[in-house]
Order: sequence, then C-alpha cells, then structure tokens
Amino acid sequence: MANNEKRAAMPEKKKCALYVRVSTLMQDVDKEAGSLSSQESLLRRYVEQKNALGPETWEVVEVYRESASAKDTRRKEFQRLLRAVNDGRISAVLFCKLDRISRSVGDLLRLVEFFREHHCEFISLHENLDTSGPMGRFMLVLFGALAEFERATTAERVREKMAWRAQVAGLWNGGVPRLGYDHDPGNKGVLTPNTQERLIVETAFKTYLRTGSIRETTRLLNEAGYRTKKYHSRRGLSQGGRRFDKSGVHRLLTDHVYVGKQQHNGQWLAAQHQPLIDEALFRDVQALLARNHVVRPGRRRTTKHVFLLEGILQCKCGASMTPTWSRGRHGGEYRYYDCRRKRDDGTCNAPRVRADDIENIITQRLIRLSEDPALLAHVLEQANQGNEDQRETLRDKTNALLAKYTSTNTQIASLVDFLATGSTSTSVKERLTELEGQKAELQQALDNAREELRELKDRTANIDKTKEGLAQFANAFAQASMEQRKQLFQLLVDHAVLGDDKVTLAVFEIDLNEKPPALEGARGCPNWWTEGDSNP
Ligand SMILES: [Zn+2]
Repeated sequence: MANNEKRAAMPEKKKCALYVRVSTLMQDVDKEAGSLSSQESLLRRYVEQKNALGPETWEVVEVYRESASAKDTRRKEFQRLLRAVNDGRISAVLFCKLDRISRSVGDLLRLVEFFREHHCEFISLHENLDTSGPMGRFMLVLFGALAEFERATTAERVREKMAWRAQVAGLWNGGVPRLGYDHDPGNKGVLTPNTQERLIVETAFKTYLRTGSIRETTRLLNEAGYRTKKYHSRRGLSQGGRRFDKSGVHRLLTDHVYVGKQQHNGQWLAAQHQPLIDEALFRDVQALLARNHVVRPGRRRTTKHVFLLEGILQCKCGASMTPTWSRGRHGGEYRYYDCRRKRDDGTCNAPRVRADDIENIITQRLIRLSEDPALLAHVLEQANQGNEDQRETLRDKTNALLAKYTSTNTQIASLVDFLATGSTSTSVKERLTELEGQKAELQQALDNAREELRELKDRTANIDKTKEGLAQFANAFAQASMEQRKQLFQLLVDHAVLGDDKVTLAVFEIDLNEKPPALEGARGCPNWWTEGDSNP
C-alpha cells in the first residue's frame, strides 16, 4: 500500500491486515451493491471496537482478498500476507474463521509460532480467539490439542471392526508382523513365538535397561548381527531383515504386544498370544524411557528435555527456578528446577525440586481448575472483563445516538409544522433537507451500533464454548505432545511460586491465591491451590 511508510512512522499504531476469502459469485454481488464483503465489514468492525477500547490504536493497512475456489489450494493472497508479516509490515492479522486458513493442527501451530516469532497478533472472530489477550493465546493451543484428540478418536472408530475382533476373541488384528512372533498357519489370528527372534527382543529390552540409551542399544544390536523382522508383504515382496535404526528400536521397546497385549480403541487389552517380556522388565523400560524423554522422530526441533515450567517457576526467595538435569546411577536422566540465586551466589538454601513432581502437581491443579465450575466461571469472568467494558462503551454510544436521533426527529417535526402554516421560506426548506440527511446518517449509525452490540453479545455467549474447551483440558493435555504441553503451560500459567509448604499459582495473570468471591462460604475454603508439599 502506498501510505504504508507514512503510517509506519507512528510507533503506537497496530498495523492490521484483514484476510477474507470470498467466492467469485459473492464478489460480483458485493461489487453491484457497492459494499464490502460481509466478512470484511465484520473484521473492520472488530478493529473499530478495539480502538474504542484503547489504549492501542489499530489501523487496517491492507485487506487480502482470496478468491476461493475449492480446487485452488495455492492461496496466493495468503502467501503474500505471510511475506508481509515476515517483513514486519503487519503487527496483527484478523480472520473470520480458523478453518479458512489451516486445516491441520500441525499447520496451525506452525503458523501460530510464525506469527509469534514476528510479534504479530492473531485474531479469529468465529472461535473468539484473540491472541492479543492471554485467554486467546491459551485457547488457541488448547483448541489445537483438542482437535488432535478428536482426530485420534475418529481414527479409532474407523478401526472398530478390527477392535471387535480383538475384544471378543483376543485375536491378532494383523498389521506389520512383529519381531519375535510368527503367524500360526493352523490358527490364523494367533501369534506364536519365534524362538530365535525372541532372543533379539529380550536382548533389546535388557540392553536398554543397562545402557539407558537408545543409540547404544541400536549399536549393540547391529554389532551382534541382529536384524529386523523379515517377512513377505501381501504383494509377495520381501521386507525387513535390515539393520536396526533408533526409531525402530524405540518402537520395539514400547510395543505392548511383547507383554501379550494388543490395541483396541486406544487401549491395550489382553490378547491370546504368549508374552515374550515379563511385565516388570517392560515397566522398568517404560519408566526409563519416560525419564529420558525420547523425542518422537520427525519433530522439528529435537530438544532433549522439555521443561514445562521454564520461565514460570519462581523460588520463594523471588529468583527464578532454572531448568537443570543430571544423570542417575542407572544411566537415566533426571530433570530438576533449581533456584538461580542459589546457583549464582549461594544466598538461598532452597532445595532443588524434581521437575516431574512439580509439573505433576501443577498439571493436577490445572485439571481440577478446569473441572470446578465456580472457579472456572470466576477466571473466565476476569479474563473477559474487556468484553464487558466494550459492551458498556457501546451501550453508551447507542444511547447517545438515540438521543440525537430523537431530537433531530423533533426538530424535523416542528419545521414540518411550521411549513404547514403556509410558509415558503427557502432557508427553512434547506434546513429541513439538511435535517433529513442527518436523520438518515444517524439511523445508519444507530443500526451499526445495535449490530455491534448483538455481535458482542454473541461473543460473550462464546465464553460457554471456551468453558467447554477448558472442561476438555484433561483430555487435551493427555493427548498433547511435550512441546504442546509446554505451550499450554506457558500460556495458562502466569507464574508459580514454590514455597516451603505450598505452591502458589496464577493463571491468566489472575492470582488464584486470593479467594475467588464466587466460592466464599460455598464449601469452606477450597485449598487445592495452596495445598501440598512440592518437595519430593
Ligand atoms: Zn531461592
């Protein structure tokens, strides 16, 4: 846009971009009507509301209009928008609906990351998401994790037939043949142990427990001359029989098939085949794997340790608690948080705390928060305070407009009365025309204000959706990857302070240690957010 440079000179302004997708048909209609598309006017109104709220000034600097044809997925305008964000020309992007920009959660999260890196806010009206507020930022990630959760459950439903087979008969469902087992030719659906391969499986489990390293286990297996399962595909092609790689070893070590189970609806159930590994060994290996936190292959960044509370957790002395880790006797690695001041100059004596423990305590609290309607209502009310203020402003505006409209009408009526007495004064006629024009303008402004109010009301109703979303927090969290969990933590928790005998927690910048009024006297003092010994 030509006037970009001029506007960029004013630092306080938020430079907004609107992204709308319009069908070619709708474009024609809009052109004829000489008006903006309905999506665009909705977005523009949101910007006006933002400005009414202050303190920042938001300004629409560019509108990206994608003519959407279902076949065209190149989305040239969207690419152009991303380039503008990349160049720092845009500091907020408004959408009508998220499904218009991204269909996969992975995509969406990458996109959000991109916007964040470039300090660009991200607003989607339909989902009531506004990343310029803490709630919006949190909901965005929560929705992402939830969508993944839903997709996983849908996939389970599709496998229902196979699952039924597993549940009713404990029969093998098929899938990739496992090292250590053969299919019983006389009894299809039952796996029988293969004595030679069984040795490899046992060796893998024991070696990992000894070394605590997937890399080392992989190396030792290959060195011993062991190879992956050799089998024939349905088309008769020879498969497998190769050297082990790290992800293959990880898959093997986490495969519940080796303890005599098979998967059904996301759960591992007892199957008919004989286990190759005893439960205790399997459990020990899983525990060690969890402690070492093996990052799933194919991840963008391979951070070995993810600390959910990084930058959030504070020591009682006021210093931050720094992530740290050390290696245990059996090769496992343990994550800790430790007081920065203690490490710097030894003037604090707080003990370090096991990361798993403190993260579990806070996760449990967040889950309980999401399941406590009264507390949740309080938090949401606080977080949506802006909405209420905005409604107040709009109501005032509507009333002022209405008063003006009424007085204009009265003036018109008296002038009409005057003219009815037979006067032919041109100045009175001119004044009347002027008033009629004003009246029409006021009528328009009043309609707009009322429309805005209605919308705002809808948005407040959307808080119920937010509530539903939060109520799913436990599910979403269970499904989320470590990095998603970290994002959820970072967005939801403002800070947490580790005291001697309690952990205090603030979510959305709202301190939960202050007794929320909604709970006063309801059930005595709810103490879950101040309970608990955090030190192991
Ligand atoms: Zn300290």
